[in-house]
Amino acid sequence: MRTPFVAGNWKMNKTVEKATLLVADMLPGLEAVRTVDRVLCPPFTSLMVVSGMLAGTEVGLGAQNMHWEKSGAYTGEASPDMVREFCAYVILGHSERRAYFNETDETVNKKVKAAFALGMTPIVCVGESLEQYESGKTEAIVAAQVKADFAGIESAHAEKLVVAYEPIWAIGTGKAATSEQANDIIKNVVRKNLASQFSDQVAEKIRILYGGSVKSHNASEFFGMSDIDGGLIGGASLKPEDFVKIVEAAT
Ligand code: PEP
Repeated sequence: MRTPFVAGNWKMNKTVEKATLLVADMLPGLEAVRTVDRVLCPPFTSLMVVSGMLAGTEVGLGAQNMHWEKSGAYTGEASPDMVREFCAYVILGHSERRAYFNETDETVNKKVKAAFALGMTPIVCVGESLEQYESGKTEAIVAAQVKADFAGIESAHAEKLVVAYEPIWAIGTGKAATSEQANDIIKNVVRKNLASQFSDQVAEKIRILYGGSVKSHNASEFFGMSDIDGGLIGGASLKPEDFVKIVEAAT
């Protein structure tokens, strides 16, 4: 059985002071839910302070991005080593990075390899735009992303992957996919393509999350589906009570 997994993507929100307050508010609730892998992904600037607060707990820490090169003239970027100092997880290929910062499947693939090289667990986002969804291209787009993002990854690494299926039209819009729609794509496109790329056994071990307007009132619908192993949560991860309820729904 796959251990449920819920990660909170804070995006570009919270100063260090506010991050400290947010973690203090949600940590007791998160610590209580031991059967779910729980991960917080604050902005880079708060990683150090949040890592101190999470030390000695089983709540994991993730970054929202990183570069693939070890070091060099990449102004504004953070290297895998720098992220690894604080984080066991890293979100890669979020649709906002793909849309606003020229992230491509090729760069996502380099980052996935760099994360595994340092023993980090990448949380890799895939998903189609509204236009692609409306023109019936979801399956082709998501299958192509899975193929390219995980090209050349060893099976021993692949089974540790966390993949988040996030239809772009559902992110931050309040219009979630239905649980049936999400499960269908996760089962018949994401997991199926992972199985043909690696093997059935590897694909069965990979945690695949749904992300896109998951809230405390709809989380259990998603998490009750056969192939949805948890969620990547944006807006609701900034609300302690809601985020704890979402994590509880994953048990
Ligand atoms: C996200 O940013 O990955 C996300 C799913 O956001 P939201 O939950 O706000 O839709």
